[in-house]
Amino acid sequence: MPRNAVVPARTAVLPILVIVAGLALVIPRLNRTSDLDEIRAEEDSVECGDLPGECATPSPEGLRTERTLRAADVCPRSGYLCVELAERDTFRIRRWTDGVSGLVVHVPAPDFEDAAPSRELHRAAVRGVKAWDGQPFAITVDERGRLDADVTVTWQRQLPGTRLGVTELQWSPTQGLRVQALRVATRSPHDAQRILDPLQIQLTTAHEMGHALGLLHSDSERDVMYPTNTATSLSAQDYRTMEALYSLENGLLVVRN
Ligand SMILES: [Zn+2]
Repeated sequence: MPRNAVVPARTAVLPILVIVAGLALVIPRLNRTSDLDEIRAEEDSVECGDLPGECATPSPEGLRTERTLRAADVCPRSGYLCVELAERDTFRIRRWTDGVSGLVVHVPAPDFEDAAPSRELHRAAVRGVKAWDGQPFAITVDERGRLDADVTVTWQRQLPGTRLGVTELQWSPTQGLRVQALRVATRSPHDAQRILDPLQIQLTTAHEMGHALGLLHSDSERDVMYPTNTATSLSAQDYRTMEALYSLENGLLVVRN
């Protein structure tokens, strides 16, 4: 889906933006190099419009002028936080609210797979989620669904198209970010008989969890948030970008210079 394909209409009530972000992998059939070298990805992203104010999020009173900062004041030393400004005039800081001090993430096992691979993929997904523990806040992984989860990982054999993972988010000025769904595939998009490598699952889950925390994509293939699964772990720049995201006011509009 092309970027900016959907432009939410402004309404009298506070708008709620729905962001859909996914990671899709394409694996060439006859390549003997490792899977990670074979992968490229496509990303769908639904964002608000390009025009300043199009995604305006007035305060609950509707009186306060929305907060904006210039890119020059925000982007240096913020990792890839501002990469959207290469294509857009503005972007908005969308993250969990300041009142959130930790998240509970339910990570079940993919029970529809055989016991041994199910265990491996489960452990890999837990590692991917926990890669963000403490960045920016504590992440508690609930493997048995006993806690009231903020995020639930859902397994599917395959996802539409060539995706390996997809995250659906909702954001509003008052409630901040909410995760509607975080889905991870267990099998290759091109070969339904082939269970994915645990490292792919770990990196895909880490990538989708990055979206769940509010990150968009990196423009560097070394980062786990690059839309291609080329990273081998979270990078210093992944962490730096997350730190920058949570150092800025939720809902802040960043304007290109
Ligand atoms: Zn993505």
